[in-house]
Amino acid sequence: MEDSNISHGLWAVTATGKPQLPCFGGEHKTDVAIIGGGYTGLSAALHLSLAGKSSILLEANDVGFGGAGRNVGLVNAGLWLMPEDVISLVGPDHGQALIDGLGASPDLVYGLIEKYKIQCEAWRHGTLHCADSRAGYRALQQREKQWKDRGALVRLLDRDEAAEKLGTKAYLGALLDKRAGTIQPLAYAYGLARAAQDEGAQIFAKSPVTSLEKEGGSWRLTTPGGSVLAKSVIIAVQGYPEAAFKDQIDNIVPFNYFQFATKPLGKEILKTVLPGQNGAWDTNLLLSSYRLDATGRLIIGSVGNVENFAMGLNGAWAKRSIKKVFPQIGEVELEHAWYGRIAMTTNHIPRFHVMGENLAMVTCYNGRGIGPGTVFGKLLAQYMMGGSPKDIPLPVSEITPVSMRFLRGLFYEAGSRLYHFVQNRI
Ligand SMILES: Cc1cc2nc3c(=O)[nH]c(=O)nc-3n(C[C@H](O)[C@H](O)[C@H](O)COP(=O)(O)OP(=O)(O)OC[C@H]3O[C@@H](n4cnc5c(N)ncnc54)[C@H](O)[C@@H]3O)c2cc1C
Repeated sequence: MEDSNISHGLWAVTATGKPQLPCFGGEHKTDVAIIGGGYTGLSAALHLSLAGKSSILLEANDVGFGGAGRNVGLVNAGLWLMPEDVISLVGPDHGQALIDGLGASPDLVYGLIEKYKIQCEAWRHGTLHCADSRAGYRALQQREKQWKDRGALVRLLDRDEAAEKLGTKAYLGALLDKRAGTIQPLAYAYGLARAAQDEGAQIFAKSPVTSLEKEGGSWRLTTPGGSVLAKSVIIAVQGYPEAAFKDQIDNIVPFNYFQFATKPLGKEILKTVLPGQNGAWDTNLLLSSYRLDATGRLIIGSVGNVENFAMGLNGAWAKRSIKKVFPQIGEVELEHAWYGRIAMTTNHIPRFHVMGENLAMVTCYNGRGIGPGTVFGKLLAQYMMGGSPKDIPLPVSEITPVSMRFLRGLFYEAGSRLYHFVQNRI
């Protein structure tokens, strides 16, 4: 393993176009202050600027430090849940708007990539959700029906068709979603930041917000270098809250997900491994994901982290899995490993909090944040420009700590290690 960076791994090595961002200092005023430089915050800054509003985005570390710079890069259409479950959990009005808005979210993502010429290995060849069991196949049949009833471009492939698209016979079938695709996720965050800057937003790195207080009809945000008085505030800290927001960690179910990237595969092998460059993942509860990058590396991921002992255990699992799923690759060296914390909720629905006058947050995309972050950033921008909470297709909810949070996290981590220790040994 050449790269010892286990936070952003391959993405930090291959992302181009990192914007040069100053550290915040002095006393300023703005229409909207945004806390957090992931997709939600950056999309909000971009769309505020496009509407002629001033905005200041404060990022504690660097743009893409959170989930935005660590994820798999699957630009999914919709949430993890099936459409009918979304409707039964949030009601028909919010539910239908949420399904429609997030179903179309890849259009917004790829549209921005094209408009601002963001170099982020953007492929829109569809994704493949692969059935690893009969129960998984039946679930995909339901998923296909529910999406087709809504006119979505999805199609369930049988075993042979799936094998052709995937380059493996390991799965019983796969749901092809033509709305979706893959990107280099950190490069997309960099590109959004540059686009927002070009449109007039002010973005600052290494500027953690350490306090947020009401001052007259506005909000004062303080950082180590200075403060800003804002009419409205968007909080976009998701699964990596720091400083003034560190307690928000109690309100998410933590769910780690690791990835390993191989050396670039040879040209001939690449004709047989995900030959259509689709992103893929399976129906297993402890799912595995597969995708290629622009240099022909195979990136395999699953639940857990790569800290200490888990690096060896999960690295051995990754090698065994590649051998089983794509035996044509043969022995392969893993060059990069990294992991990140996904912000989950107990019902898998993101949450919308209005914490005061002109102060709001949408959080917990449950591992589906590229499209949703970009969409909710845009909608939060509209909301702060005189919209109403009804513009956000989620019910407003109270912030409540997740019960048994620590045990839930431990359950995922220990369960995934045990599973990865035994899986694919025979
Ligand atoms: C391993 C992994 C795999 C994933 N795979 C996918 C996938 O394939 N497809 C998909 O759609 N989604 C995926 N996701 C989810 C997706 O990455 C997130 O939902 C998305 O990044 C959320 O964007 P965000 O802008 O809301 O938050 P983040 O990207 O997490 O950004 C939050 C930012 O807030 C900053 N911050 C925190 N506190 C402060 C403070 N006090 N002051 C200033 N700044 C602060 C942090 O430094 C951070 O940069 C994955 C996530 C992970 C971790």
